[in-house]
Amino acid sequence: SPWQGSCCSQTTNISTETMDIAKYRIVLLGESGVGKTALVSQFMTSEYMNTYDASLDDEFGEKTVSILLDGEESEMVFIDHPSSEMSVENSLSTYEPHAAVVVYSVVDRATFKAAEEILNYLWRESYTQEKTVILVGNKVDLARARVITNTEGKSLAASRDCKYIETSSGIQHNVDELLVGILKQIRLRETREKK
Ligand code: GDP
Repeated sequence: SPWQGSCCSQTTNISTETMDIAKYRIVLLGESGVGKTALVSQFMTSEYMNTYDASLDDEFGEKTVSILLDGEESEMVFIDHPSSEMSVENSLSTYEPHAAVVVYSVVDRATFKAAEEILNYLWRESYTQEKTVILVGNKVDLARARVITNTEGKSLAASRDCKYIETSSGIQHNVDELLVGILKQIRLRETREKK
């Protein structure tokens, strides 16, 4: 498993009593240039994808995809947070996302610092305690230029009680794993809350 953290290997028992397709909103946070757009584009080509209707995409960069996982279909709406125009705070209150994916580039320390600040904010606002937060170290294909080690990323995530995964949208490394991980974490939390 590419996942490092406490509870990702747990098996989930999904209740199928409802016929409605669950719809989840996921906001992507992080500095410009870290690969958020590239990751979401890769999600649209996933083998778990059931349907992708481009007409559902809105003009603000929201992409809606239907994912079939463990025999259950869910709609995932990915919102590429426009960091220049909107604060993280605004983004959370506007979209009320089920999950926040905080992306940095492993070859750029400033983006790691920015990710840390976002995680701190999510923690202070109790978002982390209530929703799914995943820290993503992207661009691992650029191995020789890497400045943030796996250990450093992992320990930041652990200190803020969130999941950690390293990806490359360039060479499609762990991109499906990230997609599935987001959905599994959201479902896990929902199952726990229903109890
Ligand atoms: P965003 O501003 O966070 O949405 O970043 P983009 O998805 O637009 O990516 C910024 C630049 O980084 C583009 O030139 C991408 O091709 C490049 N990029 C994105 N992901 C990767 C990756 O995993 N590896 C490499 N080498 N380049 C990447």
